[in-house]
This record gives sequence, C-alpha cells and structure tokens, in this order.
Amino acid sequence: MPFQRERYPANWPEISLQIREREGWRCKWCGAENGKPHPLTKSKVVLTVAHLGVPKPDGTPGDTVRAARTGGTPVRDGKHDKTDVRDENLAALCQRCHLNYDLDEHMQNAARKRRKKIIAAGQLELGLPSRPSVKMLFKCIDPARNMYRWYSLSVQPTLFDSCAVICAWGRIRTSYQRIRILPADSVEEAEKIFG
Ligand SMILES: [Zn+2]
Repeated sequence: MPFQRERYPANWPEISLQIREREGWRCKWCGAENGKPHPLTKSKVVLTVAHLGVPKPDGTPGDTVRAARTGGTPVRDGKHDKTDVRDENLAALCQRCHLNYDLDEHMQNAARKRRKKIIAAGQLELGLPSRPSVKMLFKCIDPARNMYRWYSLSVQPTLFDSCAVICAWGRIRTSYQRIRILPADSVEEAEKIFG
C-alpha cells in the first residue's frame, strides 16, 4: 500500500525513528537487523514502523482490521488509525514481517472492493456466486461401448471470497452425476489446479 502522508501525524518521521531506535534497529518479530541481509530472504533489511491496533486503555479497539489479531474486539469497517502513535501500538518490522502483517488488510480491502462491485452491479449481497463460469464441457459418446458420458470443469467464486474448481461428470440423459470440489484461495490458484 502506498504511503499516504496525510493519514499520519506531522511528526511521524521522528516517531518512526524513535521506535526503530527503541527496538535496537532490529525487527521486533523476527529480530532481523536493519541494513543487513535478512536471514531468510537475504535481501537488505529496511525497518518500517507498523501500527498494531492495540486496544486503548478505555477498552475501545485501537484499530479496525487488526483489532481481532491483537486481542481486541473487531469494530467498524475502515482504515487503520495511523495517528494512534502510542508506544505500545507501534513496532519496527522488517519488510517480510510487515508484508505478512499487512496481507490481512490487503485481502480484506480486496474482498470489500469485490463486494462493492457486485452490489453496484445490482446483485444481491448474499455472497452468491456472481459469475459462475463454466470453462469446459465435453462429452464422450461411444455407443459400441454403451458410453454416454459428459464432463465439466469450471472455476466458481464461493461464499467466502475465495473460489473453487468444480469437476463434475455424469451420464447423458440420466440423473447420474458426481461432483468434486477443490477449494482454492484465488482465481489464479484455481486456474493452476485447473491446468
Ligand atoms: Zn521481521
């Protein structure tokens, strides 16, 4: 996510520096040292400061999406409060840890956008598959061997913002059919399974 300066307090550069100093210029979670090659990724560590969403002393969640992960109650939809610069709400993280941490946010944002699009298109907000897409349907007919089969392979969105590869097969003109559903985290992954 690009850095949106206007969402941060004016003295963010100083705050960010203090936090990195406080952690001894190491990633708070994995210990990787700033400026040195990361032990796992081997790329040079550049520490950045993350907002953790630690609940406030009066019990209100500190942040929106991450509140659940840090033990608070998840609340309203929306962006993280970048002005919440309480010491305990900030941590210096390496690129790897920060990215993993932000992944939740990216995924939730993407899901939100998808839902908005579906609603905007006039579809019900029921999470019903919005664009079932049969990718392949073929038949295998061989009267000599009494073979009248059909096969279909498709990738369909599921209720949970992921998708699934649906393999179905059956006998033509009978009700016999079998379905196998292979869940996938994304359309890209589904298409990989799909081959
Ligand atoms: Zn790290």
